[in-house]
Amino acid sequence: MPADRALVVGAGVGGLSTAIYLALEGYRVTVFESNDSCGGRANLLEFEGFRFDTGPSLLNYPWVFDEMFRAAGSSLRQELQLNRVDPAIKFFWPDGETFQVSSDLTRLASECRRLDSGDTAGLFSFLHDARNKFSLSFDRLVSRNANSPLSWFAAAGLTNLPRLGLLRSMDSEIGRHFKNKRIRDAFGSYGMYLGGAPTDLPGIFSIIPFGEIEYGLWLPKGGMYSLIQAMQGTAERLGVEIVTGCPVKNIDTDSDRVTGITLQDGSFEPSRVVVSNVDVPTTMTRLVGASDIKRYRAPQMTPGVLTYYLAVNRELPELGHHSVFLPDDPGHAYRQLMKKGIIPDDLPFYVSVASNTDPGMAPKGKSAVFILVPVPLVSQTGHVNWQDESARLLERVQARLTVHRITIADSDIIQQQTMTPIDWSDQFGLYDGSAFGASHNLRQIGPFRPKNFSPRFKGLFFTGASTTPGTGVPMCVLSGKMAADRVVKWLRKEMVA
Ligand SMILES: Cc1cc2nc3c(=O)[nH]c(=O)nc-3n(C[C@H](O)[C@H](O)[C@H](O)COP(=O)(O)OP(=O)(O)OC[C@H]3O[C@@H](n4cnc5c(N)ncnc54)[C@H](O)[C@@H]3O)c2cc1C
Repeated sequence: MPADRALVVGAGVGGLSTAIYLALEGYRVTVFESNDSCGGRANLLEFEGFRFDTGPSLLNYPWVFDEMFRAAGSSLRQELQLNRVDPAIKFFWPDGETFQVSSDLTRLASECRRLDSGDTAGLFSFLHDARNKFSLSFDRLVSRNANSPLSWFAAAGLTNLPRLGLLRSMDSEIGRHFKNKRIRDAFGSYGMYLGGAPTDLPGIFSIIPFGEIEYGLWLPKGGMYSLIQAMQGTAERLGVEIVTGCPVKNIDTDSDRVTGITLQDGSFEPSRVVVSNVDVPTTMTRLVGASDIKRYRAPQMTPGVLTYYLAVNRELPELGHHSVFLPDDPGHAYRQLMKKGIIPDDLPFYVSVASNTDPGMAPKGKSAVFILVPVPLVSQTGHVNWQDESARLLERVQARLTVHRITIADSDIIQQQTMTPIDWSDQFGLYDGSAFGASHNLRQIGPFRPKNFSPRFKGLFFTGASTTPGTGVPMCVLSGKMAADRVVKWLRKEMVA
């Protein structure tokens, strides 16, 4: 079996990143992707002259991408034209209250002063505290493989542990700085994408809203899919073979190691290294056929999503690029969504109008509108008729928008597409229809997260949102780099042995 050949299953962000980093190490890499296009969740829909990103609507932490493109002899600037999205996000509440988040600190401070009884001290102490956490996390934890909890804690530095906020909740970490409940709810709402209420997630995640404020949010020209095209182009330039429209049926193993993969047409591709970019629990339950795999326990997953792609016949200046609509009591909605597994009766949701940032995403005078409604997992919604439910939920979204004097009437919609959790699961192999991979509760972060290698089968590695370091496009790029690093080090050891 050739030692220098590596197979990657899936051409999502993590798969493409792994392929790039392995090719840079001199491996012959083949990527097998079941769909006809690369990108996974970060895919593209085009109709009626409109262009929609299926999943991610914003790019953050641009240096992660720059590092990857530079390693491959190019740069982020050479690959993509980035448009800054600022103000980044506007939050809305049913009583008409709003909170606009911006990287412009004068603007942000004036928003905080308006909401937080004339006080901006909280904002600056929050930024100071989260900046420390962020640099500790990025420099020492997020981008390195750790082999054990001990080595992870050692990398953090024992004296730094209290500063990371691991033993407090995200909500109480934010609440140390902001008295105003609306600001707490706004910054805490990022928890939903991490798979928990801010009261249940570790305090380290106060770095997520901080990261957006400090380092900004961006949209590549042509949308997020331009990033996927740039990554695919880079991989191919480095000699990676990408085979699309080619589902992998099985990851083959003998008693304790990987031997290769079997494709849907029955053909066998031998390799001692297989990196799966398919959600870890999907890989373990559907692709690895060993009988003792029945004992495998899937991690807790983030919720599903119902997403709408609306081609709207007019401009929508009343919406910015990214608007988040929160209920009065988000805690109740999170409990319904993530604990009870039911669709919240007061829906949180977000709307992104990419054409407000990049007019090329829609025909002149029209808008490309993306709506994301978090919903429970497929296993919790077996009774739901998604065709009826998605029409009902869209009506609820439209009704909520009118509360804020924003109208998207049925007659404004030229054409629309919808993706239910079942579509997300069927199309990309998302486990139980979970949109963002494994949750990020305390038992599933750092050294406790599903590992990027299989302890059961030598030569089987993982990359993407369900393994380390976590969900989101930049994290999946890092995940690819870390998986490639594991492969290289493991193969070197194998050669010596
Ligand atoms: C609606 C939505 C909005 C989001 N918004 C943002 C955002 O604004 N910013 C952000 O940073 N992140 C966002 N995310 C998260 C981000 O999109 C994901 O974390 C990231 O794209 C996941 O990439 P991945 O590496 O896990 O690969 P995946 O996207 O999971 O791709 C896996 C690939 O494997 C393929 N595959 C599956 N089974 C097989 C098989 N048997 N054989 C071959 N191929 C197979 C799939 O087709 C797919 O292409 C969003 C996600 C969603 C769903």
